[in-house]
Amino acid sequence: MTLILPPDFGTTPKTKLVIPEGMTKLLVQVCCAPCCGAVLECFKVHGISPTLYFYNPNIHPRAEYEKRRDELIELADLLGFAYIVPEYEPKEWFAKVKGLEHEPERGARCSVCFLDRLMATARYAKEHGFSHFTTTLATSRWKNKKQVDAAGFAAQEATGVPYWSEDWRKEGLVTRRYQLVKSFNFYNQLYCGCTFSRDNGAYQKDAPTIPVKTQATTQG
Ligand code: SF4
Repeated sequence: MTLILPPDFGTTPKTKLVIPEGMTKLLVQVCCAPCCGAVLECFKVHGISPTLYFYNPNIHPRAEYEKRRDELIELADLLGFAYIVPEYEPKEWFAKVKGLEHEPERGARCSVCFLDRLMATARYAKEHGFSHFTTTLATSRWKNKKQVDAAGFAAQEATGVPYWSEDWRKEGLVTRRYQLVKSFNFYNQLYCGCTFSRDNGAYQKDAPTIPVKTQATTQG
């Protein structure tokens, strides 16, 4: 697939953005292109050049991981953003969520998953001189922002790197997210990422009444 920049790219509805004091170098944990589009557009408009950190050992199986990774890389290249893709190590992730397989979406397994990803991001930020980190994990209306923020602040506490807890859903960014998903024609994701969200059928976030196997929508 080849991504093409939509003609209206650069028209973010979030025209005001309060940049954290002292932010000189930003690392952004990114989970997939659909969750990123409107946030990256917002960064572009406000002159922020982050480095994208695609650390997502939760995504399963490997083919799904590679699809999401490759699309994210293509988007980063198109927009001229630097990116980092650490090694894919799903076995370690499975070990971390052992015993939480039957937890519902937004439950304890997701807290562990968010913490794992944001802790890795904060550690990388600390080791490589980033002044701040943030994430696109809470851009979907199906995610619990407080749960994501709890993980972000725990990672801040552990590393000393400030977590930028901007709400990337407010001021029209949810609507803009879905516009960009459509105009970029991003890969159609049917579940959050882990095998449990795929197999238990609970993750039907954009069209809850349609069975997940036949749903035609993009999720993240
Ligand atoms: S449902 Fe999503 S956030 Fe929750 S554990 Fe699975 S991949 Fe992580």
